[in-house]
This record gives sequence, C-alpha cells and structure tokens, in this order.
Amino acid sequence: MRKKIVAGNWKMNTLPAEGVELAKGVVAGRGEVCSCVNFIVCPPFTHLAMVAEALNGSDVALGAQNCAAEAKGAYTGEVAASMIAALGCKYVILGHSERRQYYGETSATLNKKMEQAYANNLTPIYCVGENLEEREAGKHFDVVKAQIEEVVYNLTEEQFKNLVIAYEPVWAIGTGKTATADQAQEIHAYIRKVLADKFGAAAAECPILYGGSCKPSNAAEIFAKEDVDGGLIGGASLKAGDFLAIGKGFAK
Ligand code: PEP
Repeated sequence: MRKKIVAGNWKMNTLPAEGVELAKGVVAGRGEVCSCVNFIVCPPFTHLAMVAEALNGSDVALGAQNCAAEAKGAYTGEVAASMIAALGCKYVILGHSERRQYYGETSATLNKKMEQAYANNLTPIYCVGENLEEREAGKHFDVVKAQIEEVVYNLTEEQFKNLVIAYEPVWAIGTGKTATADQAQEIHAYIRKVLADKFGAAAAECPILYGGSCKPSNAAEIFAKEDVDGGLIGGASLKAGDFLAIGKGFAK
C-alpha cells in the first residue's frame, strides 16, 4: 500500500504568526479526515520553529521548501539541510519549477541538494513537470523522463525507498488550469514506469503526487486515479479548511 499524502507548499506567503494560526487550523481539523492521509505543511524557513511547535503532538508533518546544496560554510543567505532537520522537518521540497525557473536550479545542483537531504534524514519531495510549450509540442514525457534520469537515477536503492515524487505541470501551477484526471494518470503511470526501469518493484511503493491548481472541487477525481497518491498543494494550502477538504478527496 502506497502512502497517501497531501502536502502544502505555502511558498512565500504568511507572516510567522499567520503561519502558526494556519498550522493550528490544520491540526484542529485533522481528525475529520481519514488517519490514512499523511498531511505535510511546508512553511517558509522563517516559520519552521514556530510551526513545529504548533504541530507538536499531532501527526501533521513539517517540511521545508528548499535546502542548500552544501553542508555548511560561507554561503550567505543559504539554509542547510541539517538546520531544517534540527527544527523538526521530515521532508524537503526539491526541484520545484519556481526554483528551476527563477533561481536557475539544474540537475547538477539538485543532485547535491538530494545528497544533503538524505545525509540529514529528510525525505525529498522531488518535483518534475513540463511547461506549456513542451506540453503543446508533445514533449512532456521526455521532459519528466530526463528530470528523473538526471537526478533520481543517481539515488541508491535505500535512498529511493525514501522518496516522494510530485508531478506538477508548470502550466497548471497557480493558473487555475488543472490537468484532467486522465492526463494526470497517463503521466503518473509513465513516471512509475521510468522509476521501475531503474528500481524495479520498489517503484510500486513510491508515492507520486499531483500538483497544479488542485483544490477541494477537483481533488477527489484526480486522487481516484490508480497512480495518483495525493497532491502537492500551493494556493489551496493557505486555508486550513480547503487543505483539509482536499485530504477528504481520498476515496480509495
Ligand atoms: C505548487 O506550486 O506546488 C502548486 C501546486 O501550486 P498551486 O496549487 O497554487 O497551483
């Protein structure tokens, strides 16, 4: 049985006190959703310690949105994987399309970040996905395959067992446009095949999340698909009620 996961990527939103309130709201309503759903919240770095406290005693896990490619040292403005782990993070989002697009993150950088994540017992939520031009040119399969081969194929079998993939078509992120459930299933099944080509049967255990304008009204249909194991949620994770309602989308 693969893990069912609903992860919230808060991006650069909320002030620390607002983040704490949001986390408390998730904890307060969490009992209304099946305990089989694993909730993760990924606030900005500045909120991690306070949000960790708000989550204390609950089963809502904490994640960060990024980590440095180096372990420590003279890297002004960077935050090391060891630092976020020390604050209670269990997960780290890596390779989000906004990081690739605005901060020039390449597979070479992401390989180093993955290494840092594993060295600090963090589970990476590794994001892949094509942009609109690539989708329209029918290149989406090749794009996600390359993003997986260049990074995930470098993992050991042990590391691979501790990995979450998020498929996020860039054209659906924050645009209100969602991939259809069939489009999501088609590419999730393909991603699983690419993973199986390298890691064999272990690929059947890897959670693959969908991300891109996922909300309470469309989550159930998307999550009902065989190879969709939950969602990475941006905008709709900023309201506890919506975030929890997305978790209720699991019928399987
Ligand atoms: C995201 O950026 O991870 C995301 C899925 O955003 P949204 O849900 O706002 O499209």
